[in-house]
Amino acid sequence: MQNIKITCTCCKKPVEIPGVDAEKLEAIQVGRSMGMSIQSIIPEVSPDYREIFISGICPTCWDNMFGSDEEEESIKDSTMELA
Ligand SMILES: [Zn+2]
Repeated sequence: MQNIKITCTCCKKPVEIPGVDAEKLEAIQVGRSMGMSIQSIIPEVSPDYREIFISGICPTCWDNMFGSDEEEESIKDSTMELA
């Protein structure tokens, strides 16, 4: 089976979804249109990856948003000198 790829709405990168092929994607779309929860359609897929079907955001971006804040915000504005 070939895993499908979904483009993350946040980083715009295609993300391969482990355990989800084209057939399963169709089942997800049909299920969602009938009001089923993503969890009941693909319980075997990890919650990190299920999220991309709900919000369109990949696990990496979730980590960036809610993970550790190790990133330094030390990017300085280029100093503008007025003569
Ligand atoms: Zn992303």
